[in-house]
Amino acid sequence: MAQQQKDLTVNYKTLPKFSVVDFEFALYDDLLYLISGAISHSDSVENDVTKFEGIPIRIDKDGKTMNMTRREQSKVLSFFRRILAPKKLAQFKAFKMEMDNGFKLCYTNLTRNIIANHFNFENRNNIILVWNGSTDVIILERLRIWNAVVNLEAYDVYNNGDFFLRLTFLRTKQLIAQVPLGKFYKNGRLLSLTEAHDIICWDSHEITYLHDPRVDVILTKCLFNYLVNEETFEKILKRTLVLAESS
Ligand SMILES: [Zn+2]
Repeated sequence: MAQQQKDLTVNYKTLPKFSVVDFEFALYDDLLYLISGAISHSDSVENDVTKFEGIPIRIDKDGKTMNMTRREQSKVLSFFRRILAPKKLAQFKAFKMEMDNGFKLCYTNLTRNIIANHFNFENRNNIILVWNGSTDVIILERLRIWNAVVNLEAYDVYNNGDFFLRLTFLRTKQLIAQVPLGKFYKNGRLLSLTEAHDIICWDSHEITYLHDPRVDVILTKCLFNYLVNEETFEKILKRTLVLAESS
């Protein structure tokens, strides 16, 4: 262990980064459709985000991917229109727009290999960071991407209205780092991404439109940077690598 920790310090420049990701997707009849996604690495500047976009893809349980057809799109959309609550109409429209945009593009980087390469650029075997991301894990598993995944959330740890920003190892739920965010009055023990972000940052980050995965990535990264400033990057990375090693 002492040897491993020494190496972590020495080889700092070749160590993994945290790759913040968000996916827009639909689960329908056991079929998973990936609509778009976005990624930004922990060492890049704030708004340096790559978007994955193009014709949406269907990912089967065995990891096989196929382009979504327009026929499948209308089936998926009419299914969601039926089950969604009226107050979620704006979300539905944004989701439809995201799909339509993908069909109109004449290029795509929404493929398994391109997404996987972003996590393993320079053979760093990056750590994937998601916001409240239990569902993003379904996509990663179907895409056969096996990098370690950590989860960032704002949680009312003691159920008394005091929220904490927490980073955990997603698969085992082991704690990596935690800092207080303060009191917040709401029903439920988890804050949404914008609720948590607006506690610690007043910057609007030139947000284009909601439900663009780029926006979620920028806000998540802002929260992660806050955690890093309180706890130091090296400490968070070391703890994550130790947990990844033992899992
Ligand atoms: Zn911010």
